[in-house]
Amino acid sequence: NRQIYFVQRPKGMPDQHTFELRKSAVPKPGPGEVLVRTVYLSVDPYMRGRMNDTKSYIEPFPLNEVLQGGVVGQVEVSKDDRFQEGDLVVGMLGWQDYSVAKGEELSRVDPQLAPPSTALGVLGMPGLTAYFGLMDIGQPKKRETVVVSGAAGAVGSVVGQIAKLHGARVVGIAGSEEKIRFLKEELGFDAVVNYMAENLKDKLKQACPDGVDVYFDNVGGEVSDAVIRLLNKHARIPLCGQISLYNLEKPDDGPRVQPSLLINSALMKGFIVSDYQPRFKEGLQRLAEWVAQGQIVYQENIIDGLENAPQAFLGLFKGENLGKQLVKVSDI
Ligand code: NDP
Repeated sequence: NRQIYFVQRPKGMPDQHTFELRKSAVPKPGPGEVLVRTVYLSVDPYMRGRMNDTKSYIEPFPLNEVLQGGVVGQVEVSKDDRFQEGDLVVGMLGWQDYSVAKGEELSRVDPQLAPPSTALGVLGMPGLTAYFGLMDIGQPKKRETVVVSGAAGAVGSVVGQIAKLHGARVVGIAGSEEKIRFLKEELGFDAVVNYMAENLKDKLKQACPDGVDVYFDNVGGEVSDAVIRLLNKHARIPLCGQISLYNLEKPDDGPRVQPSLLINSALMKGFIVSDYQPRFKEGLQRLAEWVAQGQIVYQENIIDGLENAPQAFLGLFKGENLGKQLVKVSDI
């Protein structure tokens, strides 16, 4: 059983010293437990926050233990009546080939509904984040301008498509020409801005001639400063992520953009997807319908091999992924 341990808290960007690949015997499930073989493992930006020993909405990763994340796996042995050998499940499990989990920590994945990998993406945590953050806080209306940063990622790409389904004009912000093309041509965004290019402020202004009504913020920092200057009266900002800040060694105070919030009576509200846990069923149903009808298309970036999980994780901070980043560990 290969396992990836968290062995050093990073300062700034994590690197090879953060992780260590070790081996152990395949564990045996006890009563009420299930042995799960990892098929897909999810790497997510929030995991960077758990690498710091600071208070947050979730406990820090303990040092010298196997890293934990979202996993889609297949049941190998079940000592829980609810699961049988061969069932596909999703849960928070270890970065390892095999995990033992309690039955109640797992949910069944229906392979008839969509490919099982989607349980970690569009029909999983990132999809739900997009749905609830946009619908509950953003509340996009017809013909409003919705701007989304991190637009070509797991959350952002779903946000933009849901906003389009609600009749909004959608402007995406992303970091490469390949992503810009994808958002325009494949997802039908109305305008897309490359934040790596010069004159971000001017380009955003051109892309948003009627100002900004909803800004779904995945990145924070200078990109968000530029968007917030363009807010309209009663604009809404679902504050979902701040990836540009996660690896900073010193806090970034940045320019002050709050006057724009004040004079526009705007709302900026942080949220964590688990705030919406009681409504997950509703969210998944809506997302599954849109996916089945082809109204939401999803993209996955899949790296092969458990040993490459650290590299896949680090790639998130270099923009290497188009859509949801996954690691394929074994076959179904
Ligand atoms: P993505 O699939 O969007 O991957 C991360 C992307 O962020 C990269 O591809 C890269 O795209 C972009 N990025 C990386 N560094 C920077 C930077 N310095 N400045 C601007 N963009 C950067 O990840 P997710 O969709 O999973 O997550 C998106 C955001 O949502 C994250 O901030 C995450 O923490 C947050 N999140 C919040 C949740 C919540 O409950 N509130 C739940 C899930 C996610 P590019 O090439 O465009 O730079």
